[in-house]
Amino acid sequence: MAKTISIAIDGPAGAGKSTIARRLAKELGYYYVDTGAIYRTVAYFFDLWGISPKDLDGITRYIDELTIGIEYDEEGVQHMIMNGMDVTADIRTQDISQKASLVSAHAIVRDLLLDMQRDMAAKHNVIMDGRDIGTVVLPKATVKIFLTASPEVRAHRRTKELLDKGQKADYQRILKEIQQRDYQDTHRQVAPLKAARDAVTLDTSEMDLDSVIAAIKEIVSRKVAL
Ligand code: C5P
Repeated sequence: MAKTISIAIDGPAGAGKSTIARRLAKELGYYYVDTGAIYRTVAYFFDLWGISPKDLDGITRYIDELTIGIEYDEEGVQHMIMNGMDVTADIRTQDISQKASLVSAHAIVRDLLLDMQRDMAAKHNVIMDGRDIGTVVLPKATVKIFLTASPEVRAHRRTKELLDKGQKADYQRILKEIQQRDYQDTHRQVAPLKAARDAVTLDTSEMDLDSVIAAIKEIVSRKVAL
């Protein structure tokens, strides 16, 4: 089998990883793998069962009851399937964001998802975004990018995104949640959020979307023919 190409994009919540990865994947004809959605699915499962994301005993007891599938529709949109149910829309709440951050700290959860992520990258050319793709999941990724921005900028972007969708958004609250998730994601024992040593770091605080895309394409083009 021909060797596949993998582009790892890691970074904190709200850095713009998914918007950029999705766009680039479409242009390149690669699969876009949103690994945060997989952790969100785990969090959603335990939430339905009434098990706290901090309750390691409960998680250990019931984790075998969970099956996760990833499917792509004809538009290339990733769908998360939990025990046969499409939960793609259900996992996009602030509550599940926080719970995903807590549940993802357990080694038993991370181990369960590791093979699934590696398997995708072994079979397809992928752009995979997450927190530990360049460090743990795909240490030999063709290209590694660490995308970041200040917490304030990320909170502003998220607030605008929600308001544009006609939803309620409170900047101070969003900022607090982003800071809390940053703290949890960078301080956990297993696979904490950090840039891989061979990643190119891009701080997008002062950049608009088009400049970020252009910068990322330039980084990718050093390793992959575009
Ligand atoms: O990227 P997203 O915000 O959807 O991720 C939700 C949570 O899942 C993150 O806060 C992080 O704790 C966890 N996550 C992770 N490793 C990944 C992707 C996400 O721990 N590769």
